[in-house]
Amino acid sequence: MVDIVIIGAGPAGASAGIFAGRAGKKTVVLDNDRSGTSKAWVGNHYAVMGVTGFDLYETGKLQAQKCGAQLVTAEAIAIEPTDTGFCVVTEEEVYEAPYVLIASGPGRELAEQVGVELKSGEGRSYIKVDAEGRTNVPGIWAAGLCTGVSMHVAVTAGDGARVAIHMLSEMNGKPYVDHDLMC
Ligand SMILES: Cc1cc2nc3c(=O)[nH]c(=O)nc-3n(C[C@H](O)[C@H](O)[C@H](O)COP(=O)(O)OP(=O)(O)OC[C@H]3O[C@@H](n4cnc5c(N)ncnc54)[C@H](O)[C@@H]3O)c2cc1C
Repeated sequence: MVDIVIIGAGPAGASAGIFAGRAGKKTVVLDNDRSGTSKAWVGNHYAVMGVTGFDLYETGKLQAQKCGAQLVTAEAIAIEPTDTGFCVVTEEEVYEAPYVLIASGPGRELAEQVGVELKSGEGRSYIKVDAEGRTNVPGIWAAGLCTGVSMHVAVTAGDGARVAIHMLSEMNGKPYVDHDLMC
């Protein structure tokens, strides 16, 4: 049993993993290594003069691990409700947690399977979330492209962080803040 399973380690999922790991939550980040971001050249990210999407993607995964999240290269094939939360199923393992954060980029099938409500926009469907990132299924949250936010790394990374902060606040029962100071 862990605290949070995050599905996807693109900008949204890795960013959420960084915050969850730093908050001391037992966090598993599952990624099937198919981020579209890794093909990009990103010249529009705040305070980054230009970087390959590949570097962003790989560094984001490393940073999430450095912050304490466990990164597993695997495809999540199902989310199954349990008495205490959910089992996220891969070919090799089953990860159990009370909280699941879906950050699967364009993929929404897993969400649909478990009864998460979708919304439509611009000819596509997206995961419907409230202002903080909760879906209609208690315990399942979503962030990034799968929720229909603007298709830009700065936005999806920020969205992953934002939703993780709301989730951590709910878990801790008080507003979560993660600040460091230079000594
Ligand atoms: C070619 C290209 C160029 C781009 N150029 C720019 C640019 O210059 N500037 C800019 O700001 N944005 C750019 N973007 C957009 C940007 O990459 C995306 O908007 C944004 O990064 C999406 O982030 P995300 O984390 O929501 O999704 P993604 O980056 O798609 O990440 C989702 C992750 O989830 C994983 N995943 C999905 N389903 C599962 C599953 N079932 N199990 C396990 N893992 C799963 C995928 O492997 C992936 O790693 C570009 C996109 C593309 C494709």
